[in-house]
Amino acid sequence: MMFDVIVIGAGPAGSSTALALARQGRAVAIVEKSVFPRRKVCGEFVSATNLSLFDTFGVGEAWRAEAGPEVRRVGFFAGGRKIEATMPAASGRYGRALGRDLLDTLLLSAARNAGVEVFQPWQAIDIAREETLNAVRISSGGQQRLLRAHAVVAAHGSWEQGRLPSQLPKTQRPDDLFGFKAHFRDARLATDLMPLFIFPGGYGGMVWSDHGRLSISCCIRRDVLAAARSRHRDLSAGEAAFHHIAVSCRGVAETVGNIAPDGGWLAAGPIRPGIRPAYADGIFRVGNLAGESHPIIAEGISMAIQSGWLLAAELEDVGFLNRAACEAAGRRYSAAWRKQFSLRIAAAAGFAKILAFPGSVTAIAPLVERLPGILTFGARLSGKTTIVPGLD
Ligand SMILES: Cc1cc2nc3c(=O)[nH]c(=O)nc-3n(C[C@H](O)[C@H](O)[C@H](O)COP(=O)(O)OP(=O)(O)OC[C@H]3O[C@@H](n4cnc5c(N)ncnc54)[C@H](O)[C@@H]3O)c2cc1C
Repeated sequence: MMFDVIVIGAGPAGSSTALALARQGRAVAIVEKSVFPRRKVCGEFVSATNLSLFDTFGVGEAWRAEAGPEVRRVGFFAGGRKIEATMPAASGRYGRALGRDLLDTLLLSAARNAGVEVFQPWQAIDIAREETLNAVRISSGGQQRLLRAHAVVAAHGSWEQGRLPSQLPKTQRPDDLFGFKAHFRDARLATDLMPLFIFPGGYGGMVWSDHGRLSISCCIRRDVLAAARSRHRDLSAGEAAFHHIAVSCRGVAETVGNIAPDGGWLAAGPIRPGIRPAYADGIFRVGNLAGESHPIIAEGISMAIQSGWLLAAELEDVGFLNRAACEAAGRRYSAAWRKQFSLRIAAAAGFAKILAFPGSVTAIAPLVERLPGILTFGARLSGKTTIVPGLD
């Protein structure tokens, strides 16, 4: 089967890219290996900077109807301290959280409605160059098919290994961070507050998501997780990590009490923060694959959606048979990507580094308590008010 573009992965980056390209009149296929709806390791907070884009994509109304309450305050829970500050608004609007089971399904449905051909559940297992075309081999339930296109967009995220040329190599370091996430019902947290919490060996966040679900997600070092697991051999990895967090952070323990997670803990990783080539080997890359911030700033969904939009804008008038024009579009997209996202990735890396210092809980919390405006400033620095150019 022949398309203009094949997009691999239907997370927020893939569906947004596919949708935007289909709106330009391109013949687009998207390949997603999971059956939707599916839960995913993610805090689920979506910054208000995406609202204009959601409206442009035709999903704004559904998003507003489903998402959790507006987040108007940012918090910092460390040891016994619970500190709060104002969340900066983006054009007078505030971010909200929506479960990834719902958000990803919403965006993929919009892409399908825009004419994108959806291959699901199909996994892309190979990308090969055939003269002027790309051939993407996909597999599902023992069957294989070959899709061909002028251009390929890799949107399969950064956390899974595999044989695609766009997949990242494996890492194995003690300071690798693993992600965990669970939903809780009947938890005790103000509805407009999104606290960041820190604990020895990691950090996390809490926010009310849709339909009364509190989303708790965290990143924990490989070695600290291993130690927690060896202390609690009867618990799953997520349960052991959460136990480690709750004994060191009063705010988390008080929020959740003895409530069991709704649906259990999900795990992913190691996560791969950093900036990578947005165009390489003739493959365009969006979302986490192009670059990933430490989840401490909760901006990954925004960068995923917005990178898809930036790429589609650069490809708008490009003839895919013209290799030089594709290369030039790739360079322009890379530059636009860095301009839009580099600062928040650097800021997130800086925050994560500071909080990773041994003793940071006792050293940093008193400072933040004295100057809570640091939290508001940090939220600004991390992109909470950075609108996508041309989309205010
Ligand atoms: C603990 C934690 C908390 C976070 N909290 C937040 C938050 O609150 N707010 C926020 O904005 N960001 C948050 N993030 C970051 C956010 O989850 C990611 O940045 C975002 O999911 C990236 O989107 P993506 O579309 O690039 O990739 P993904 O969401 O990973 O989507 C990739 C898709 O590709 C599919 N796929 C993979 N391989 C293949 C293949 N070979 N063939 C076909 N399909 C394939 C996968 O099934 C998946 O559906 C958090 C991350 C972590 C780890």
